[in-house]
Amino acid sequence: MRAVIELRDTPCLCGSTEYNLIIEGHKNTSLGIGEDFKIIQCKKCGLARTYPLPYGGHHMKYDNYELCTGHVTDQTVTRKDLFLSFASEPLEVMERYKKSGRLLDLGCGIGILLVLARNKGWETYGADLSKPCCDYIHKELGLNAINSDLIGAKFPDEYFDAITVNQGLEHFFNPLEVLIEINRILKKEGIMVMNSPNCNNLLAKIQKERWWQWLPYIHVWQFTPATARALMVKAGLRPVKTIIRSRWFLERLINIGRYSSTISKMVRLTIGPAFYFIARTGLVGDTMYIVVTKDNKIAGSK
Ligand SMILES: [Zn+2]
Repeated sequence: MRAVIELRDTPCLCGSTEYNLIIEGHKNTSLGIGEDFKIIQCKKCGLARTYPLPYGGHHMKYDNYELCTGHVTDQTVTRKDLFLSFASEPLEVMERYKKSGRLLDLGCGIGILLVLARNKGWETYGADLSKPCCDYIHKELGLNAINSDLIGAKFPDEYFDAITVNQGLEHFFNPLEVLIEINRILKKEGIMVMNSPNCNNLLAKIQKERWWQWLPYIHVWQFTPATARALMVKAGLRPVKTIIRSRWFLERLINIGRYSSTISKMVRLTIGPAFYFIARTGLVGDTMYIVVTKDNKIAGSK
């Protein structure tokens, strides 16, 4: 029988305080800063979260954190192709629905998505908690980037045609609050594309606590397509499309390049295409894209 955990001081976004323990992990040291962790799932709504909360429940010190935000470091340069592919895919998904207008990339890092979008004619805005990243975007790229969380940015109502949240929602302590704000600043026919790990995937089921994408020291929430869509609906957004891919599985494989560029090249040239096919078909399913628009019926009925 599953252990039940009660957390009166950290209720789920649905208000419930009762959780089932679904994963109990040990030190996850792939970034060298791991600790023992649990993944718990709300008994009422099914949303999973990391416990204890990352950063002791305080906002990450983004100015010091150089691995996840897109950081202006040598690491970024050596893995530029990786970051480029991370940024081009959400934009590619967005452009199935919107091809021009005013775009916000929330959690923009060093602005790779912004550059790609600008080059395609979008009017771009970035927002990120990392000051070094925003400074870099201003000075080196000459683009807009506000060093703030979304609420603090105070964008006008119905300001954006397009919003991308690229591997961001799982980091926010209150993603519902962020989604409600996104609803406010999105135009009536606007589109938001978010992507995040999908914890309901084949590798996570096989690997359990060893699945590297739990990232318990930075991911507050562990979404599935169903739990992420439920939050969006709660925020007055209407899911239009869900796309499942196996991106991280592929990237993990190619990451061998960190240790040997020769092996990485061999992987790319030999079994790479087969794995790329698996990634596109979403067989492992470790990544999800969810496309939403404003639910005008809900917005209009308020
Ligand atoms: Zn819940």
